[in-house]
Amino acid sequence: MKNVFNYTKEMLENYFESINEKKFKATQVIEWLYQKKVYDFDSFSNVGKEAIKHLKEDFEISFIKIENVLEGKLVKKFLFRLLDGEKIEAVLMEHDYGLSVCVSSQVGCNMGCAFCESGRLKKVRNLETYEMVEQILLIEDYINKRIDSVVIMGIGEPFDNYDNVINFIKIINEAKGLAIGSRHITISTCGIVPKIKEFMELDWQVNLAISLHAPNNEARSKLMPVNKVYSLDILIPTLKEYIAKTNRRITIEYVMLNMINDKDSDALELVKLLKGMNVYVNLIPYNETTHIEFKKSSMERIEKFFNILKKNNINVTIRKEFGGNIKAACGQLRSESD
Ligand code: SAH
Repeated sequence: MKNVFNYTKEMLENYFESINEKKFKATQVIEWLYQKKVYDFDSFSNVGKEAIKHLKEDFEISFIKIENVLEGKLVKKFLFRLLDGEKIEAVLMEHDYGLSVCVSSQVGCNMGCAFCESGRLKKVRNLETYEMVEQILLIEDYINKRIDSVVIMGIGEPFDNYDNVINFIKIINEAKGLAIGSRHITISTCGIVPKIKEFMELDWQVNLAISLHAPNNEARSKLMPVNKVYSLDILIPTLKEYIAKTNRRITIEYVMLNMINDKDSDALELVKLLKGMNVYVNLIPYNETTHIEFKKSSMERIEKFFNILKKNNINVTIRKEFGGNIKAACGQLRSESD
């Protein structure tokens, strides 16, 4: 049995063709599942008895479970229990421009960034597409509202689970389904170059965010082991290629770590690195975790850093802090409980 939420429209169309049914039944199924939110094949009244019989034989509609919800101001953290007992988290944020969900893409993470809590548990497995789709469906159901935007920035490295993440995006973007617009979807990566290139070929309007966090290889390799494989010497030219090909602006994420990457000289080096590129830099106040060796930069330091970038014509913002008090902020999500 296949979970129906693993299936993109195209996959459903192929399925219906394979059982000698009309392709348009895929769209009908999508409307039942994602718009009418009916989770019982027998109720799909326009799909036809014969097709429903097939659906029931080949597919299941089973859900991961919300195990716990922590509520803060403008933010809710959801702990999910997967069908095999593993756990992941997702975060709902209320922005003035709408509701956004930060979804996880893996159980644990192998990237080993020195400052990040989510990677304390090594990758156990990739999430399947349905496990990402259901994070959205269950949160929509819980709050009884529609989600406006999705960021793939929770636990895991999305480009280490490329195919499932791509199908997830196709499903939530589907016009007759959840219809979350491409420009309202952001995928954040630590910089897995071959996958950035593959993603670039899709030529989508989906936003790409790169976790940069340091302006040179020496500092970056200390913070992010991935830099030893895909260093700035190959990452930066790839980003330039991406911008040229897609005509899209890239977000550069830069977490502000006291005395590690937040000096004036770091800011100037960053200016040099990004000069002329269509990027905007998002400075992320570091959320302190059990990695006691890292401290957050002071607000004055962040503002000084911000001003240096700004003065040198780099687009820059300081990320609004969400969810610190319920451990729902960037880098604080986990796959294991205390
Ligand atoms: N693996 C992906 C997405 C998950 S992390 C990536 O690396 O982009 C989402 C963002 O939060 C990344 O930029 C990550 O570096 C940042 N982050 C990790 N730990 C953090 C912390 N403690 N405080 C603030 N940001 C953190």
